[in-house]
Amino acid sequence: MKSSVATNLPTRQAERPQANGHRADLDIPARTGEELRSTIRRFAADEISPIALEHDLLGTSPLQAYRAFWDRGFAAQFVPETGQEGAAYMADGCLVAEELAYACAATASLIMLPVFFNRVVLANLAEPRRSAFLKQILSEPVVTSFAASERGAGSDLLAVETSATAVDGGYVLEGRKEYSSNLGHAAYVIVVARTGPAAGRSNDALTWFLVPTDMPGVKVGERWQTLGLRSMNLSPLELRNVQLPADLRLGEEGGGLSLMIQSLSQSRTGIAAIAVGIARRARDEVLAYGTKRRLYGDKLVKLQDYRFRIAEMEKDIAAARALVQLSASNYDRGLDHAKEASIAKLYAGQMVMRVTEAASVMLGSVGYTGQSLVEKLFRDARHTAIVEGTEPIHKELIFASVLRRGGY
Ligand SMILES: Cc1cc2nc3c(=O)[nH]c(=O)nc-3n(C[C@H](O)[C@H](O)[C@H](O)COP(=O)(O)OP(=O)(O)OC[C@H]3O[C@@H](n4cnc5c(N)ncnc54)[C@H](O)[C@@H]3O)c2cc1C
Repeated sequence: MKSSVATNLPTRQAERPQANGHRADLDIPARTGEELRSTIRRFAADEISPIALEHDLLGTSPLQAYRAFWDRGFAAQFVPETGQEGAAYMADGCLVAEELAYACAATASLIMLPVFFNRVVLANLAEPRRSAFLKQILSEPVVTSFAASERGAGSDLLAVETSATAVDGGYVLEGRKEYSSNLGHAAYVIVVARTGPAAGRSNDALTWFLVPTDMPGVKVGERWQTLGLRSMNLSPLELRNVQLPADLRLGEEGGGLSLMIQSLSQSRTGIAAIAVGIARRARDEVLAYGTKRRLYGDKLVKLQDYRFRIAEMEKDIAAARALVQLSASNYDRGLDHAKEASIAKLYAGQMVMRVTEAASVMLGSVGYTGQSLVEKLFRDARHTAIVEGTEPIHKELIFASVLRRGGY
């Protein structure tokens, strides 16, 4: 016999960014392009840089930075209903991500992932839940996480085992997710679950659900110790007999894979932008060090090898940023940008490892220790080549696209 599920939407009271008693200021004129870049650059220098290292050391998340971002109305700019969104949503989102990552990649993820996932929820939640969600994200800084990956399903998402069984009035969710960014601070988590046959690999086997994290049966596990992004909470998720109302399904039943394809192309471009931000910071750190440090009676930058390494960095950064802009601009113009997103993500993930490794080499022992920010940048860089698909995944996607659409 089918069981019923409750239809109320609980709200999580646990640790999450608290609004400063007022809604995001919707009267702030939306900024775009280079004006937006310089505004966010100042914001990041004032609100993130001074606290980034301490949070990295302690493994705590700078929730106040997300709150400040929201209080200043920047998050509202990415909510279509505020009417503040410019024509260049994706391009603007990428330059914000890049500037935040210049100050701290973990904080960029803490701020921009919820901005992005809240938007995904708005695009796929049915009324009246949608209006309630919209009201909530405009009245407080809401963290929404995403949980697809499982121990046996990372690159291979069709292997997802977490199940959502249809019952009277909704679904019962069961399973475990392994890695979810910002989960420890999330009010909601988007869960990708199997609604199709248990062992099936059909393209319509998966469905997305919006799960409030304070629902009975939802348990956030202990956060993982990580190489980099130490101030971002990466945690597992347990779902035990979670009785979810039907209207918390996102999109159509069986539409999970196609939602994944649409949304991943956007977030992959954003991850590539974060890689550009990390690399720019590494370049600036070695530039500053090289003009200060003296070796053989002269400045370090007088060594041709030092200068040429910086020139290589600059070339790499310029190329990666151009690829991010190409992918973002294709999206903003309504063009297919899946291949461009993979190219940007693949290139930027490789580029930031090259740049931060070179930066570490150029600083000698200083670059290996906490005396220099380069040590953190080197650790933070690695995640950009893992999340949203590892390198082989993007090579397969690029190859398949060349085969299908032809190459440049
Ligand atoms: C910092 C961080 C944040 C994350 N945040 C989230 C999140 O918010 N939500 C979420 O759902 N997940 C998240 N993840 C998980 C991440 O998306 C997965 O770890 C990633 O997709 C890789 O999956 P996997 O770890 O299972 O590796 P596997 O899929 O097990 O891959 C193992 C190895 O096989 C290689 N490989 C895979 N396919 C091929 C192929 N076709 N050919 C050759 N080699 C191949 C891979 O490159 C890798 O080297 C996060 C991970 C990290 C590190």
